[in-house]
Amino acid sequence: MQDARNLESVKKLNRINVLNIVRENENISRQQLAELTRLTPAAITGIVRELVELGYVQEIGLGESSGGRRPMRLQICPDAGYVIGAEITRNRTTIGIVDLLLRPVKVLEAEIDMENPKTAIDSVVEKIEELIAETEIPVKKIHGAGFAFPGLLDITTKVIKRSPSLGEQWCNIPVKQWLEARLNLPLHVEHNPHAAALAEYTIGKGKDIKNLVYVNLGEGFSAGVIMDNKMLYGAHGHAGEMGHMVVVEDGPLCNCGNKGCLESIYAVSALVRKANNELPLCQDNDGLKAIWQQKGKIGIDDIIAAANEVDSYAWQLIRQAGWYIGIGIANVINFYNPEIVCLGGILSESQTVLIEPLLESLNRHAFPEIARDTRIEISAIGRNAAFYGACLGVIKNLFTLEGSDNMIS
Ligand SMILES: [Zn+2]
Repeated sequence: MQDARNLESVKKLNRINVLNIVRENENISRQQLAELTRLTPAAITGIVRELVELGYVQEIGLGESSGGRRPMRLQICPDAGYVIGAEITRNRTTIGIVDLLLRPVKVLEAEIDMENPKTAIDSVVEKIEELIAETEIPVKKIHGAGFAFPGLLDITTKVIKRSPSLGEQWCNIPVKQWLEARLNLPLHVEHNPHAAALAEYTIGKGKDIKNLVYVNLGEGFSAGVIMDNKMLYGAHGHAGEMGHMVVVEDGPLCNCGNKGCLESIYAVSALVRKANNELPLCQDNDGLKAIWQQKGKIGIDDIIAAANEVDSYAWQLIRQAGWYIGIGIANVINFYNPEIVCLGGILSESQTVLIEPLLESLNRHAFPEIARDTRIEISAIGRNAAFYGACLGVIKNLFTLEGSDNMIS
């Protein structure tokens, strides 16, 4: 009996292994699968036949020949299943459904009041339920939900110890437990920058790279670090709080309780606050001031749009932020010596206006030998990297022996 059970689990492991390789390698052939898995061609033929019959793998036409017959290319059936993802931040929560190839079915942004954790989680779940109803995807085809949160998320217990950016009430909140009580789905809960780094590493500029730093320049600043193909979490999952690097001693009070942290001066909320305070004193012909006069207050998208005008208030504001963020990144690359630093989050949409002073500052403050060899690039995924990372976390779990129970039994 034990032998039979072992055999079953080996067979299942082989199927999951094959499925995972098909997922990670577009257009793979049966022959390549045999080479990668070291299973016999006959075993691969049998497993692929099963996976095609189950609706997980499909044939997508003939590939190039390398001498003999042209090989049939294989792909995951994208509609074999779907996954829900959510990136939670104070002012903007992104919720969506993707297929198994991470292609979005529907992604939306919602403004959810985060002050009270309990009602905030309830609202997130309600939005998810609305989304499922709208897309009309059968619930049995939804294989899980991934969530990315800001703050000190304990990697083992999935309790948010503290999340200054979400608000004062976010202390010791068992987010995974609360979500489990509301959603009857396998869940994956991750810290925002780690989720974003995973997405960039898997489908963005980090493909084929072993050592990557993803820097989120959003409402807070944080970094997800992958070294030697492994995510660095630290002892409890709190590695990467780059925004709380002190850059001005006795500077402005940060929401973490400390003073002069990088993000207390240059993250999105700080820049928006600063601009709204300073614009009344600005010259009347400034583009951003005109918008401020029209609307009564301006947001980060207004600042980024106005920054394209050289010498304007917004241009100077973003350039100054770029210079100080450059100091932060200089410290990070001196620490980790990555091959690439990918800049994501809303501020990265300022492109050259931000990047030029950032690179000048980086070259001034980092070891020249390290800076020379480090590529600094804007994220390929844009502002939703952590959302896709949350979805990816669920998909990766599905393709492991433990996580695959609701997909392949
Ligand atoms: Zn701080």
